[in-house]
Amino acid sequence: MKTTKKITLPEDKIPKQWYNILADMPSQPLPLLNPKTREPLSKADMEVLFAKELVEQEFTKERYIDIPEEVRTLLKIYRPTPLVRASGLEKALDTPARIYFKNESVSPVGSHKLNTAIPQAYYNKIEGITHLTTETGAGQWGSAMSIACQHFGIDLNVFMVKSSYNAKPYRKLVMKTYGGNVHASPTNITEFGRNILKDNPDCGGSLGIAISEAVEMALKTPNCRYVLGSVLNHVLLHQTILGLEAQMQMEIAEDFPTKVIACYGGGSNFAGICFPFLKYNLTEGKNIEFIAAEPECCPKLSKGELKYDFGDTAGLTPLIPMYTLGNDFQPDQIHAAGLRYHGGGQIVSKLVEDGYIKPVSIPQQETFNAGILFAKAEGIIPAPESTHAIAATIREALKAKEEGKEEVLLFNLSGHGLIDMASYEHYL
Ligand SMILES: *Cc1c(COP(=O)(O)O)cnc(C)c1O
Repeated sequence: MKTTKKITLPEDKIPKQWYNILADMPSQPLPLLNPKTREPLSKADMEVLFAKELVEQEFTKERYIDIPEEVRTLLKIYRPTPLVRASGLEKALDTPARIYFKNESVSPVGSHKLNTAIPQAYYNKIEGITHLTTETGAGQWGSAMSIACQHFGIDLNVFMVKSSYNAKPYRKLVMKTYGGNVHASPTNITEFGRNILKDNPDCGGSLGIAISEAVEMALKTPNCRYVLGSVLNHVLLHQTILGLEAQMQMEIAEDFPTKVIACYGGGSNFAGICFPFLKYNLTEGKNIEFIAAEPECCPKLSKGELKYDFGDTAGLTPLIPMYTLGNDFQPDQIHAAGLRYHGGGQIVSKLVEDGYIKPVSIPQQETFNAGILFAKAEGIIPAPESTHAIAATIREALKAKEEGKEEVLLFNLSGHGLIDMASYEHYL
């Protein structure tokens, strides 16, 4: 292996295709169901809500999907992102493990979310869609969609979970700066929101409620579709760009991971870093370990039940076969708002069931300790979500030290925490 600190790739090495893991899974997940008929969901059912090409991508079993040239060109603003040897963290932990991280915090919005916001806005634009709706928890997805929609001239309405809207005022300003319309959910502009407020005027909201509101508005607005920043297969697909880059970069580093680690909200950054490496286990008999790091208060993969559940609170979305804590689950108000989703999604849940992925759940205190150690050692202040991946990596690095084992740990730094300093203030 080489001892380079930062491994970069030239612009023209941005992958030309996304990787679809469904093509290589030995056992396929159960289908999504239409919430009304409980029959397998058809493409036509889904096209009411999503752009046609995104629906194609949701169902396809093709192994590789071409990335449109216009999308690749836009991604070049910040991609390829660097792969970094976390030598400072290794030293701080005095571990024999070699630690690498993929740095997605360098995107203009500070997280991996733009990797799918750009293609989603693009496909809607070329189909002539003029309005989009979405929800956002911590505000990262809303920020990414706001700038992507601004670029393509699409009008965007973002339903932001009210507790985050109040706790993270800068996120709302980021979205507004990019031209997004932001509403604190539950709102009184949808029927679902009004009903909730009637019973509980102080409701702080949840991702499930915000999704219901965004879906309702999309269905009632002409020439409008809905976009989602995680959970669905096409979103996971778009994020594989980061794992495909990491593969090339590990090759340049002349190293290969024994464990790949990411935090887990709805699975998009996890799938992004893991799926291209998981292909080796599925098709070449390799034995890489994949670790999904969840918050202790929202442990859907570790403690949820595997069953059909809705993606939202109102029950407007398709039924998804997944590990879930229940679509009315209300997790504690942890700082990592992006990890407070109730369900694990279709593909990852199947891979967990079949033993390819190991979930771990981590208490908030441990994640902040990890985030602060990382910031001091590597100079980057991680997003509260990403600190879960760091904490899981630290556990593995200390285990390697205890057992005197040679491990190569690769984790995804899904975002930076510079707009989340209020969380750090609370902790410090
Ligand atoms: C949204 C977000 C997450 C959680 O979403 P996933 O789909 O699970 O990746 C994690 N980290 C950051 C920085 C985020 O913005």
